[in-house]
Amino acid sequence: MSTPSSNFIHDIIDTDLASGKHTEVVTRFPPEPNGYLHIGHAKAICLDFGTALKYGGRCHLRFDDTNPTAEDTEYVEAIENDVRWLGFDWGKHLYWASDYFDRMYECAVELIKLGKAYVCDLSVDAFKEYRGVPHLPGKEPAGRSRSIEENLDLFERMKNGEFADGTYVLRARIDMNSPNLHMRDPAIYRIKHASHHNTGDKWCLYPMYDFAHCLEDSIEGVTHSMCTLEFEVHRPLYDWILETLGLYQPRQYEFARLNLTYTIMSKRKLLELVKENLVNGWDDPRMPTLCGMRRRGYTPEAIRAFCTEIGVTKTESLTDVALLEHHVRNDLNEIAPRRMAVLDPLKVVITSYPEVQTEEFELPNHPNKPEMGVRTVPFAREIYIEREDFMEEPAKKFFRLAPGTEVRLRGAYLITCTEVIKDANGNIMELHCSHDPESRGGNAPDGRKVKGTIHWVAAQYGVEAEVRLYDRLLTSENPAAEEGDFKEYLNPDSLKVITGIVEPGLATAKAGDKFQFERIGYFCADLDTSANKPVFNRTVGLREAASK
Ligand code: ATP
Ligand code: MG
Repeated sequence: MSTPSSNFIHDIIDTDLASGKHTEVVTRFPPEPNGYLHIGHAKAICLDFGTALKYGGRCHLRFDDTNPTAEDTEYVEAIENDVRWLGFDWGKHLYWASDYFDRMYECAVELIKLGKAYVCDLSVDAFKEYRGVPHLPGKEPAGRSRSIEENLDLFERMKNGEFADGTYVLRARIDMNSPNLHMRDPAIYRIKHASHHNTGDKWCLYPMYDFAHCLEDSIEGVTHSMCTLEFEVHRPLYDWILETLGLYQPRQYEFARLNLTYTIMSKRKLLELVKENLVNGWDDPRMPTLCGMRRRGYTPEAIRAFCTEIGVTKTESLTDVALLEHHVRNDLNEIAPRRMAVLDPLKVVITSYPEVQTEEFELPNHPNKPEMGVRTVPFAREIYIEREDFMEEPAKKFFRLAPGTEVRLRGAYLITCTEVIKDANGNIMELHCSHDPESRGGNAPDGRKVKGTIHWVAAQYGVEAEVRLYDRLLTSENPAAEEGDFKEYLNPDSLKVITGIVEPGLATAKAGDKFQFERIGYFCADLDTSANKPVFNRTVGLREAASK
């Protein structure tokens, strides 16, 4: 259960509604379609869409497609899919920054006419040099004093494709001495001869993020525009542009981004992993992407509960990834049907059991949810148990199988180990056991105490499955803070593939089906059919691993 936690933005909205400043709440989630969404985006999505839901308002899904070279329609579809999967809906409010390119261009012309923007021909290096450092005044570029007519002419020629990339930019004319470098005549339009997925070759100049974003928010009537803390220093520019143009002014609020231990969230770095085949695509179950987590078996309910618990604050922090896993485990514990799977098989022959007999046992799908029903599991003379459930010389408090001790096969019989069969090197090959025929269902007929219960799969009916065991992708607790290349911290053991034997019903599991393999962990059927056997991804263990 997640406890309600602080969300300072909701406090602001409560005040705005009470004072009548706003009568409705309009938010937006503005991804740039240059990569897949990750768990950090989930925090923003839960805030943007969750806020709109809470106040009966609306949240726009707006693709911030102002940079034609990095963007791709593959990402657009994936983003829509992931937002829906998380449980949110934008209704008819799907927007594209590129739909406003004409309006944005007009706004830029308007700024020039007001004497509030000018064309500048400084190189990138000179631009930075003139801008200077916060505690010293910047230098004014020559273009700053150009006439309005000249600026209008140059800007139009920029639009008409007369100049090469990088030759000119349009800059807002604000204050070259501002202590905030973002206010030192920031670039608002740049030349980029590139085809755009939406507008084709219509434009060869594109608005900069800071110019575009506030206009998008304003045009759409957004009331509360939430973004991460690094945009706090951009807010004066956001306000300046809208105020100077006399446009409706949404308010921007900044919150701390989500950082997770052992996790990187920069799309650029995630793309690097994909491109260099260091993972198997964006939806590799080790990735912190929403599609990776989905494939791993995480549920949207768990992710939303996690986002609620971490809350929304203005303080940067590093959240323990174990908290996310805790919510995944919590949710799966409620919904995942139980199954038996043996991941490290040891054969057991029940010598007292008839050779050609098969019995079927009904086992509950969930120990305390009878409404989830039962399934039938076949039992026969030869079964597999987990190798670690047997100890030839049992340690103290080891209540599982050992020579001469009795253990319960979950839902089947009580068995006692009578003989350990070894190969020439002393490796245990097989166990012989006897069973108590009176203990059908696993209950001692005389009420005698049998402490240990283990899981099993009938050898003849069990199905081979590929089981993918995942560990952390990175070995550094805070990879973003490490010097050097983050790829030095890739965990070489982040994926271990083994073959297990699973109960026969699992042969027909569909991709995405989630199970608890009893006594082992939570697993999710994978979509990969190339192995010619069912494939299961380990989602998360049954308990939090002891920290190393
Ligand atoms: P990245 O740094 O991974 O490329 P981004 O901020 O460039 O992320 P966008 O597509 O621009 O990615 O982000 C869309 C929205 O998601 C923005 O409002 C952004 O602030 C938010 N967002 C991105 N990363 C996080 C995070 N780690 N925590 C919370 N919100 C985030
Ligand atoms: Mg971005």
